[in-house]
Amino acid sequence: MNWIEAKIIFECSTPTLGQDLISEIFYDLGAKGVVLEEPIADPNCDWGEDALPLPPHYSVIGFLPENDLFEQRSEILEKKLQELKERADISFQCAYRKVAEEDWAESWKVYFWPEKITERITVKPSWREYQSIVDDEIIIELDPGMAFGTGTHPTTSMCMALLEKYIEKGNSFLDAGTGSGILMIAANKLGATDLKGVDIDETAVEIAEENLIRNNIDREKFSLFTGSLNAFSFSEIDVVTANILADVIVTLLPDLKKTLAKNGTLICSGIISQYSQMVRDEMKKLGLEILEVIEKENWVSIACTIK
Ligand code: SAH
Repeated sequence: MNWIEAKIIFECSTPTLGQDLISEIFYDLGAKGVVLEEPIADPNCDWGEDALPLPPHYSVIGFLPENDLFEQRSEILEKKLQELKERADISFQCAYRKVAEEDWAESWKVYFWPEKITERITVKPSWREYQSIVDDEIIIELDPGMAFGTGTHPTTSMCMALLEKYIEKGNSFLDAGTGSGILMIAANKLGATDLKGVDIDETAVEIAEENLIRNNIDREKFSLFTGSLNAFSFSEIDVVTANILADVIVTLLPDLKKTLAKNGTLICSGIISQYSQMVRDEMKKLGLEILEVIEKENWVSIACTIK
């Protein structure tokens, strides 16, 4: 099957809000991921010789399958964009480009660059060059494929910032909804030794395994499981992350609580600000003690513990 790349170049006074609103339209249309182009770069980074010039504009790129539903989907896309223009003051241009199946899996790679996610952690796409400029920098080498988790999304970067704070050397770690495996790798590089990851998406589990190996993490140090968290009975884990959506987190909270060791830390992310209180209330109801709540671009991450 061929794919159509739909590129939405936009202007908006709050570009991150524009990115979220346009990405949401693609997700509603069934896209598994989007690519965000931003005209911002870290001038200190060495991008390697294959670097392309940075885009002069903000855009959101989604891939739609070229099948009988394409026309209907592109009409919905444009209708929803038109609504956004009136509602959120976003001006945009749409450009479509056909991508042959053999090129599709690779085509998004031109948009993914090394990026500093926290003070210490940088994510480097496996096909890019990157020279570290500071000694204690942690570099995560990643090929996310079709799995979520390049590190650039605020929900992932906040999890990494909280992992930096709460992981101690020798801790056990579980990522519920592991996607590309990025948080398992970050946890390992921050000192966690016994790593577990679970995801309902079989492809994500395969991709996570490749990424863990790519980062030289021994097979005996990690285990990956396919299925929903509540189908397993993990326990006594020091640090647990769940970067899923607020409603899924609320449903899984009793199971997440059961995974924790006494005084262990649970980091929940993927929560849109307006649902933060709902998640906090549910945590308190279950006897979890909130340690801190952080916010970035309308997304919230909550760290809590059990005494
Ligand atoms: N941990 C990564 C990926 C988060 S995306 C990061 O922080 O960037 C969320 C992932 O959770 C997806 O890969 C999705 O397939 C998975 N997921 C959703 N519901 C789940 C459930 N009930 N149990 C396990 N994984 C789930």
